[in-house]
Amino acid sequence: MRTQVGIVGAGPAGLLLSHLLHLRGIDSVVLESRSREYCESRVRAGVLEQGTVDVLNDSGVGERMRREGLPHHGIELRYGGAGHRIAFEKLVPGRAITVYGQQEVVKDLIAARLAAGGKIIFDVPDVGLHDLTGSPYLTFQDQTLECDVIAGCDGFHGVSRPSIPEGVLSIFERDYPFAWLGVLARVRPSAEELIYARGDRGFALHSMRSPEISRFYLQVPPDEPLENWPDERIWAELKARLETVPGFTLATGPILEKGVTPMRSFVAEPMQYGRLYLAGDAAHIVPPTGAKGLNLAVADVRALTAALGHWYSTGETGPLDDYSRTCLRRVWRAQHFSWWMTTLLHPFESDDAYGGRLQTSYLDYVTSSEAAATTLAENYVGMPW
Ligand SMILES: Cc1cc2nc3c(=O)[nH]c(=O)nc-3n(C[C@H](O)[C@H](O)[C@H](O)COP(=O)(O)OP(=O)(O)OC[C@H]3O[C@@H](n4cnc5c(N)ncnc54)[C@H](O)[C@@H]3O)c2cc1C
Repeated sequence: MRTQVGIVGAGPAGLLLSHLLHLRGIDSVVLESRSREYCESRVRAGVLEQGTVDVLNDSGVGERMRREGLPHHGIELRYGGAGHRIAFEKLVPGRAITVYGQQEVVKDLIAARLAAGGKIIFDVPDVGLHDLTGSPYLTFQDQTLECDVIAGCDGFHGVSRPSIPEGVLSIFERDYPFAWLGVLARVRPSAEELIYARGDRGFALHSMRSPEISRFYLQVPPDEPLENWPDERIWAELKARLETVPGFTLATGPILEKGVTPMRSFVAEPMQYGRLYLAGDAAHIVPPTGAKGLNLAVADVRALTAALGHWYSTGETGPLDDYSRTCLRRVWRAQHFSWWMTTLLHPFESDDAYGGRLQTSYLDYVTSSEAAATTLAENYVGMPW
C-alpha cells in the first residue's frame, strides 16, 4: 500500500488531519488501534474554542455541531459563597465557546471521511513506524504502508513519540498532587453555563453535554480508587462543593459513566523528527482545567495541513521545517493558561492556608478587574490563530 500521508491514530487530531488534507487533494490513510465503536463512544473533552468551531464549520463538518452544540458566552467562578460571571460577550466581543462532546466531533469526522471514500483502518494495535529520516513507512498486521510523511496523532500513550530515538526530544513536564473524578449523568444541567467552584473541600466543575446530560468533575487524591466513590458519595460531594451560593440546587440523576483522570502538564520538543510530525496529545498534554487539549490538537493539524499543502504544491519545505516552532507558540500559551487555571482553583494541600489566601486574592482580582477578567476570557475562548 502507498499513500501520501500515513496517519497513526483516529482521535480528533488524526481524523481532522485526514479530512483537511482530503480537502486539499492530499491522500492519507489512518491506522487506529481500537475499534470504531470504541473511538466513537470515548467520553472526554467537550469545550470547543471559537477557532475550533470555525475550522469545523469552514471545512464542512459543522452541520450537527451547529444544530446540537450549545454556544456559551460566559463561565462562572464560584468561591467564598458567591458566584462571579466572566462575560465573554462583553470582554471578548464576537468570541465564545461551544459545548459539543469530543465523541460527537469524532463521529462527524469518521462519517465525513468514510462518505468521501477515505481510508480508516480500525483494530490494528501493532502499528510500527520505520525509516523516519529516509523513506518512511508504517507496518501493521502483515502489511506495509509506504508514505511521504507520517503524522503521529496517537495520543499520549501512542507509539509515534517513542519511535523517535532517545536524546532527540526535550521533555518538559509537571505532575499535580490531585486527579479529577469525571462523572457523566443523565440529568438536566443545573445552570446554563459552566461553573468552576473552588472551596476548602476541593475543586468541582459543573459542565454539560446536552440539555439532558450533565458532566461533573471533582478534585480527588491522585491514584484515587474508583470504588471509593459510590454514586451517593459523588452526589453528596458535588452538592457540598457546588451548593455554596444562595438559591442554587444541584439536580441529580442516574450516573452513566465515571472515571479518574490524572492531571499532568507535558510537552515534547521538537514536535517533528525527520519525516514524522507529532500532533495533539502525542506531543503535549495539559490538565483539563483550561479545556485546551482537544483545541490544541485542532490547532496542530491546521498548521500541519497548511505546511503539507505548501510542500505538495510548491516543493518548498519552509513551513514544514517550521511546523514545531509554529505550533509550540500556541502550545506554551495553552500550557501556561491550563497550569494557571489549575493553580488558581485547586487547593494543593489541606493545611496550606497561605496558598489558599493567594488563590482567593487572585480570584478577587480576576472577578473585579476588567483587565484581569479579559485575560482569562481571551485565553479561555482561544487566542486568535
Ligand atoms: C477526562 C478528560 C476531559 C477532557 N476535557 C477536555 C476539554 O474539555 N477540552 C479540551 O480541549 N480537551 C479536553 N481533554 C483533552 C482531550 O480529550 C485530548 O487533548 C484530545 O483527545 C487529544 O486528541 P488527539 O487526537 O491528539 O488524541 P486522542 O484523542 O488520545 O487520540 C489518539 C488516538 O490514537 C489511538 N492510538 C493510540 N495508540 C495507538 C497505536 N499504537 N496505534 C494506532 N492508534 C493508536 C487511540 O486509540 C486514539 O484513538 C480532556 C481529556 C480527558 C481525559
